[in-house]
Amino acid sequence: MVRIDSILNVGKTVVKNVSSVTQNSNISNTILHSAQNVSQGISRTNKTYLDRINRISVKGVKQEEQPILDMLKNSMYDLLGKTKGKAELPKEIRFEYCRNGGIRKQGVANVTRDNVLHVNRDYFENIDNNIQENLKTFMNLGLITKDKNGKYKIADFLRNTKSEIFEKRLNEYNIGWPIDYKFKFHRTSMNYYANLTNQARKHPMIMLENIMKTGENANILKSCGMYKPRAEVAKMTTQEQYKYLQDIFQKYPDVGKRVVIPENTALITTPNYVFHHELGHINHNKLISDDIYRKFSSQQKLLEWQNNEKIQEVCSRISGYSGKDPFEFVAEVYSGLVNGQTFHPDVLSLYKALKGPVV
Ligand SMILES: [Zn+2]
Repeated sequence: MVRIDSILNVGKTVVKNVSSVTQNSNISNTILHSAQNVSQGISRTNKTYLDRINRISVKGVKQEEQPILDMLKNSMYDLLGKTKGKAELPKEIRFEYCRNGGIRKQGVANVTRDNVLHVNRDYFENIDNNIQENLKTFMNLGLITKDKNGKYKIADFLRNTKSEIFEKRLNEYNIGWPIDYKFKFHRTSMNYYANLTNQARKHPMIMLENIMKTGENANILKSCGMYKPRAEVAKMTTQEQYKYLQDIFQKYPDVGKRVVIPENTALITTPNYVFHHELGHINHNKLISDDIYRKFSSQQKLLEWQNNEKIQEVCSRISGYSGKDPFEFVAEVYSGLVNGQTFHPDVLSLYKALKGPVV
């Protein structure tokens, strides 16, 4: 565990030279592949986990995709540790262009009913575009601005310790970064900010409620007359609630700086998040019958899910992506549970109703 963690830590310092990162990745790969040669730091349980991971057949991986495979393996190892070996792993891993009737798929990876994990080469080949597209969306919505020195700034009303990491990384982001850095940036920092913005825009009431019940926030707002009781906020339109949320941080900037937006108001994304999400699909697959799988996949269920205001409100406690369909909701919540995040009872009861895997 320690060994693998310390290798992952290599990724925390920016290395401009791609070949040195590939070398680092190879070190982690060597450890994962030859546990028998490592006499220290790997217990019998750990070796069982590594053996299970290394038995999975991997198809199509190119040399430049190796760091991604290493991240996937580390995510599986982490998951086995956190579930004491109970979690199911993919039957096979395929690196390929994921197409749906000839149309490119957007996601990083996907899992089919046969528990094959498909890693999408399109996503990785277009990773800079994917990052730029998301940045453009944030900027068009006014959720990221550029200051006079050309530095990106996140919105004041979405500022907390986690979104500040995104702001910092966004200003460091560089097209020369190795693929695993870009991937981590996009799906950890940027993804978290997307989860926050989704909640603030679509269901500001959720964020306001979470702010009001955190620490000294309510008292701080009372002290400057910005406090509104829940019943009053509930009567406002979504637009008015969104405006109120922004006002809290903008009308009295000094007061706003003291108001804390709890990190866990939305799904917290970790470097393992994407693959834990995919492994969530695999573990969910195991618990549902073909009948339920077909029912959840139907157009009717999809529309029911996307048009149900209560369900969408629950999803906004997680992410925009969880609002897409029941499978994505389960996979998103699963990744959070594996990460030790606690969720609102509404999230947990919906997860349970959908037969979300117990972690
Ligand atoms: Zn998914």
